[in-house]
Amino acid sequence: MVSGCGLRERLYGEFRGDILTDVMLRDHTSLGIGGRAACLFIPHDTPSLVSLLKALAGEDRGYLLIGGGTNLLVSDEGLDEVIVSLRAFRRLETVEVRGDDVLVFAQSGLPLQRLISFCGEEGLSGLEGLVGVPGTVGGAVFGNAGAYGYEIMDAVQRVTVLKDGRLGALDRDDMDATYRSGGIPRETVILGVHISLKRDDSGDVRRRMKEFMEMKKKTQPVSERSAGCVFKNPPADSAARLIDEAGYKGMRSGGIEISRKHANFFINRGGGTAVDFLALMDTVVEGIARTYGVVLEPEIRIFGKRGESGR
Ligand SMILES: Cc1cc2nc3c(=O)[nH]c(=O)nc-3n(C[C@H](O)[C@H](O)[C@H](O)COP(=O)(O)OP(=O)(O)OC[C@H]3O[C@@H](n4cnc5c(N)ncnc54)[C@H](O)[C@@H]3O)c2cc1C
Repeated sequence: MVSGCGLRERLYGEFRGDILTDVMLRDHTSLGIGGRAACLFIPHDTPSLVSLLKALAGEDRGYLLIGGGTNLLVSDEGLDEVIVSLRAFRRLETVEVRGDDVLVFAQSGLPLQRLISFCGEEGLSGLEGLVGVPGTVGGAVFGNAGAYGYEIMDAVQRVTVLKDGRLGALDRDDMDATYRSGGIPRETVILGVHISLKRDDSGDVRRRMKEFMEMKKKTQPVSERSAGCVFKNPPADSAARLIDEAGYKGMRSGGIEISRKHANFFINRGGGTAVDFLALMDTVVEGIARTYGVVLEPEIRIFGKRGESGR
């Protein structure tokens, strides 16, 4: 392995950040699944990110962005792409206050729960339902994370992006956000978001968050290794209900088990692989289609074999 995957020299003086080589991606996903990647770049600032992506484009090398890795299934065989993490982009600040309307800016690598805590402390309403959703702000925006009637894109006003090497911004109307999609165009790096919130009593905001968190803990296996809901809910229905009713709770494939607490969560019980996970997904998809005539679609992002990077 060439140091910095052959890019360190090319980027000399133009990259501030960390370069991890020979990385096991299972150490970077909540599921604890994923093979090797030759390198993971963690730029510390935007110019370094711009230089990195320019260098990659110059070498015709693909890259994949990873946030908290909490919605990902990564191939056991690893990935050919360079992995880029914006975990050093963590700025959070209030940028405008107009009466009860408060505009907050958060960089994409900020843990989503840091933003949620800030809202609780400052008495800002609009994101309470997202309490307990792991991962980063960037990942949440990409997938329009939501729960209990809240979706992050309902509060997002503007997304600062990097696309084709150029910095830009997407306003609300530029994004076609839908259920579990922020409507961010392909090949776009989310750098930060402006989020519109309402001033409220901080005790009330925190009380709502506490109630949602208790509900989440009661109904989801939050302390187990999972990637959240595996399948999207079909229109006007619940994937968990269908999987439960079909009798799949507790079903296993190797080290992966369908949670007994919430049938749309697949748990890594230890030693589970992407192959096990995909086999269980196939069994469920086929069974639900056969029994109910409903085709379940994945909510998780699949990187590698059968997935987005299309190896
Ligand atoms: C216990 C548990 C509970 C969960 N509960 C919920 C829930 O209630 N609601 C919900 O919606 N989800 C839930 N999830 C799923 C997951 O936490 C969310 O989808 C989360 O928003 C993913 O963020 P992440 O940073 O981990 O993204 P990752 O999993 O790292 O990435 C997801 C996608 O976002 C892309 N991405 C990440 N950062 C950027 C960026 N800066 N620019 C462009 N693209 C980017 C990645 O390339 C990838 O395609 C849960 C997961 C777990 C493990």
